[in-house]
Amino acid sequence: MKLNSGHPPWKNSLINPPVYPALEEDIRCDCLIVGGGMGGAMAAYRMSLSGADTVLIDKRAIGSGSSHANTGLLQVANDKSLTSCINTFGDKNGVLFYKLCQQGIRRILELPGELNIDPQIIPRSSLLYASTPEDVPVLRLEHDQLVAHGFDSEFWEQDKVSAHYSFTKPAALYSKGDAETNPYRTVHSLVDKAHTNGVRVFEHTRARHYEYSKDGVVCITDNGRIYADNIIFAMGYETQEMKKDRGAELVNTYAIMTKPLSNLPKWHEQSLIWETARPYLYFRTTPDGRIIAGGKDEQLTDPQRRDVRVLSQSRRLLEELEALFPEIRGIEAEYTWGAVFGSTRDGLPYMGPHPEFPHCFFIEGYGGNGTVYSMIAAELLADTLAGKYRPELELFSLTRTSKPSPSPV
Ligand SMILES: Cc1cc2nc3c(=O)[nH]c(=O)nc-3n(C[C@H](O)[C@H](O)[C@H](O)COP(=O)(O)OP(=O)(O)OC[C@H]3O[C@@H](n4cnc5c(N)ncnc54)[C@H](O)[C@@H]3O)c2cc1C
Repeated sequence: MKLNSGHPPWKNSLINPPVYPALEEDIRCDCLIVGGGMGGAMAAYRMSLSGADTVLIDKRAIGSGSSHANTGLLQVANDKSLTSCINTFGDKNGVLFYKLCQQGIRRILELPGELNIDPQIIPRSSLLYASTPEDVPVLRLEHDQLVAHGFDSEFWEQDKVSAHYSFTKPAALYSKGDAETNPYRTVHSLVDKAHTNGVRVFEHTRARHYEYSKDGVVCITDNGRIYADNIIFAMGYETQEMKKDRGAELVNTYAIMTKPLSNLPKWHEQSLIWETARPYLYFRTTPDGRIIAGGKDEQLTDPQRRDVRVLSQSRRLLEELEALFPEIRGIEAEYTWGAVFGSTRDGLPYMGPHPEFPHCFFIEGYGGNGTVYSMIAAELLADTLAGKYRPELELFSLTRTSKPSPSPV
């Protein structure tokens, strides 16, 4: 699958990333992780902390899949609001999902102190603005739900929004406890540390076939077999080529990163910014004074057309950015890219075992919070493989019945 088009920015931020050999022999391990993106990197690091004999392989270079297109926003609030989650999954499970996201971000914020390569993970607040006046009542309801369940959220009226930003919007929620990251550096720093802790890493090593038995799985690559007690599949959106999930949907999405600005516009605390409209636009800054804008999702499946669409969609994103911050009109995008993006119909990611694949576990962090979902999955699966029962996995079951999600926010 061609995952990315155009020029994602992150590889330039880590000039000499660690490199790993391709597999050239037969080996065995307790746990094989297939996929060295955010999901596989988090799992590899977490498995290395529990001391399991772990191997990580990727058919590309580490961090070169969707994680290289990732814009690095880490948020407790989801594509699906807490109100919607409660409506769909009930009070207990809706709140549990949000609490798991909150714990996931807290854990991600601890990572910089544990890793040798700086992952550029920075705590940030988020502004979720009402795209239209009609969205204000649902935003107020969402605020009440968040506060009632112990999540940080302030309801801002129009004048407070315009006092803190260059733009004005009918209302907004301002919440603390989120973060931004450089996803490419985060993946590399996790894999690097996992490798230091004993995980064997092989790049340019494609898993081609699997032989399942009652004792484990054999993974056949071009130049070697891997005999594993268990496999964690962290193959991102390409998992759909191995097994179709009925509730998963793939679209194309677009993003830009500007050249560095000498002065950022009026932008309170360099917060993450997003909106109630669906599909939504989102914005963030970077530590070197650039702005990232993303969105403009569309139902295009042909990668050649996406290659062509990057130019026009990035122009539209630039226009949206200039409309929000008129004082930076004329700014140029240095990087523009498009990519496959996956979500699920009910708004929850997939993680856990699948009855048709014995000794196998999946991480499919589909949705705008894929990094946070990867952290949740790494924790739950590492505990499960260590023999600890994690009932939370039932929420993310790969065989759950998909229900249509009610309207967002
Ligand atoms: C434009 C864009 C913006 C995004 N923004 C955000 C954001 O702001 N915040 C956020 O949290 N998420 C965001 N996401 C989602 C995020 O990118 C993903 O959730 C996450 O990075 C995916 O990580 P992954 O490990 O699941 O997939 P990938 O990064 O794609 O990694 C999977 C790896 O598996 C490997 N692989 C596949 N098949 C095989 C095989 N047979 N053998 C060996 N290796 C194999 C691939 O080469 C790949 O490296 C965004 C996504 C896009 C496209």
